[in-house]
Amino acid sequence: MNSCIFCRIISGEFSTEIIAQNDQCVVIKDIAPKAPIHFLIIPKKHVADITALDTLDVGSDIFALAQHISRTHENAREFKLVINNGHSAGQRVFHLHAHYLAGSHIESV
Ligand code: 5GP
Ligand code: ZN
Repeated sequence: MNSCIFCRIISGEFSTEIIAQNDQCVVIKDIAPKAPIHFLIIPKKHVADITALDTLDVGSDIFALAQHISRTHENAREFKLVINNGHSAGQRVFHLHAHYLAGSHIESV
């Protein structure tokens, strides 16, 4: 049994609203939003983080979905894209994902 929560969501184990998807990635809402709009762009294939990637193609797929969300969600046209890579950088789910943050005011880094 796969204990990875994102793999379980992607496999359809729970009823989860899919905001958008392409061949490689899905977009869902974060369960604990840190911004008025907080989506997660998640590769369908399990990989722990950027350093574990065999090929970098998934980076393009993440960007493509970020661009798609920006073009289709009027209130999320401007956004911040964040990847926490590794525990000390704040990663808590060890299945690569990008946070898509948008809304009234997003803290800058
Ligand atoms: P990280 O800290 O690993 O970069 O981000 C993990 C994110 O996943 C957090 O923002 C957290 O709220 C979100 N998250 C954790 N478990 C679930 C879940 O079961 N469903 C959804 N939609 N988001 C989750
Ligand atoms: Zn996984």
